[in-house]
Amino acid sequence: MGAGGQKDTSATWTNWSGNQTTRPDRIEQPQDLDALRHVVTEGVGPIRVVGAGHSFTPVAATEGTLLKLDGLGLVHSVDKSARRAWVNAGARLKYLSPELERHGLAFRNLGDINEQSLAGAILTATHGTGAELPCLSADITGLKFMTASGEMMTVARGANSNVFDAARVSLGALGVLVEAEVQLVDSYRLHRKTWAEPLDALIGHAMSRWTTRRNYEFFYIPFSGYGINISHEETKAAPTPRPEQDDDEAVLGLKRARDYAEGDVKGRREYLKAAFENFEGEDVVGNSWELLSSQRNILFNEMEYHLPPKKALTVLSDVIALIEKKRPDVFFPIEVRRTAGDNLWLSPFNGGGRVSIAVHAYHEDEYDFFYSDIEPIFRKAGGRPHWGKLHSLNYRALSDLYPDFVTFCKIRNELDPHGRFLSPYLADLFGVKGTA
Ligand SMILES: Cc1cc2nc3c(=O)[nH]c(=O)nc-3n(C[C@H](O)[C@H](O)[C@H](O)COP(=O)(O)OP(=O)(O)OC[C@H]3O[C@@H](n4cnc5c(N)ncnc54)[C@H](O)[C@@H]3O)c2cc1C
Repeated sequence: MGAGGQKDTSATWTNWSGNQTTRPDRIEQPQDLDALRHVVTEGVGPIRVVGAGHSFTPVAATEGTLLKLDGLGLVHSVDKSARRAWVNAGARLKYLSPELERHGLAFRNLGDINEQSLAGAILTATHGTGAELPCLSADITGLKFMTASGEMMTVARGANSNVFDAARVSLGALGVLVEAEVQLVDSYRLHRKTWAEPLDALIGHAMSRWTTRRNYEFFYIPFSGYGINISHEETKAAPTPRPEQDDDEAVLGLKRARDYAEGDVKGRREYLKAAFENFEGEDVVGNSWELLSSQRNILFNEMEYHLPPKKALTVLSDVIALIEKKRPDVFFPIEVRRTAGDNLWLSPFNGGGRVSIAVHAYHEDEYDFFYSDIEPIFRKAGGRPHWGKLHSLNYRALSDLYPDFVTFCKIRNELDPHGRFLSPYLADLFGVKGTA
C-alpha cells in the first residue's frame, strides 16, 4: 500500500438501502495517485470504486478491493469565463455545490438528492427533471481516469473522443475516475411551488408543464387518486424562509395509512383523498442546489425506467392499475420526471429525451414484483433502465437497447483486457465470461 493509504481487512460493505452486502478482501482509501496506482495494479481484483453507495444494484460491489476516493479534495480549478471547473470526481455533490457557489457557479440541474459522489452520479447517468435539461453526465466536458495498467488518461471532446463518449456513462468499467471537468452555470435562485392534484389532472397537464416549466415532476401517491406536483422556475426574487422539511414524516404517514387499512383499499383511498384535499404546498424562493435536492431518510428500494415520452403516461396508468390491483403493500410515491436527450453511448437518454417512471418499495418489504410485474410493462414500451437502480437486464437485452453497446464493450476490453474492474455483475452486463 502506497503513501497515506488506509486499509481495512475486516469490513463488510453495504449499500444505502441495505439490499447489497459484500465482504471485500480490502477496503482502501488511497490519498494520492501513487497509492491509487499501487492498488489498481497490485490489489486483489475485481477493483471497484464506491461513491456514496446509493445504487440499488451491485454495480459497486466486489469481493476484491473496494476503493473510496472522497478524500481527494473538492474543487481543483475554476475557469470563471467558461463557467467550468475541474473537481475531484469522488467528491459528494452536497459538498461541491456550496464550494462552487463561492465561485458564483452551480450545477445546471441536480437529482432528487445530492448525497451522491459526482463520479457515481455521472457514471450511472443520474438525472433530475426538466425537458430541456440533460442528465449530469452530459454536462461533463473532460475526465481524467486511471486505467487498469495504472496510466492516467485524459478524455474530452477532441481528445480521445471515442473514449470520452464511452466513459461518461460507464459504471466505472473503464477505470477509476479521478477528476471531472463540469460545465456549470452562473449560480441561480429558484421559485419552488408544490401542490396536490387528482391523477387525471396530473396526467392531463404533464406534457404541457414539461414544455413550459424549467423543472417539473410529480409524485403519484398509490391508492389515493392524488399526486403532488413540484415545479421550479428561475427567479431573481429574494430568498424566502423555508418551513422545515417533512417528507420523511409524510412517507411514514403513508405507511401508517397502509398498515391501518389492513387491505381495505376503499377506506385507504378515502382517508388519503381527504388528506390530499387539505394538502398545504410550498411556495418558496432559494438557492438552486438547496431546493432541487431533498433529504431522503426513509430507506427504500427502487426500479426506474426511462421511457419514450409518447408512451410514458400510458405506461404510468398501467403501472398504477397493476399496483392498485395487486400490491396493497406499496405506499411509496411513484415519481415521474423528464430529461433531455444526449449522445453519450450508454446514456438512457441517448437519441432523445425520455420520461422516467420510478417505483419504490419500503426497505423492509419485498420487491420481487418490480421484476415480475412492473419491468415487463416498462420493457414492452421500449424503456431503458437506470444504471444504478434495480433491473434484470444483461448483455443480450442491453445490446438491443443501445446502438453503441457493442462498441462500448470493445473499448472496455481494450482498456481493461484482463478484467481488473470487472465484477461478476459487470461481466454479465458486458457479456464477458470469467473475471479477474
Ligand atoms: C435516496 C436516493 C435518491 C436517488 N435519487 C436519484 C435521482 O434523483 N436521480 C437519479 O438519476 N438517480 C438517483 N438515485 C440513484 C443514484 O444517483 C445513482 O445510483 C448514483 O450512481 C449513486 O451515486 P454514488 O456516489 O452513491 O455511486 P455508487 O452507487 O457508489 O456507484 C455507482 C457506480 O459508479 C462507480 N464509481 C463510483 N465512483 C467511481 C470512481 N471514482 N471511479 C470509477 N467508478 C466509480 C461504482 O463502482 C458504481 O459502478 C438515487 C438513489 C438514492 C438511494
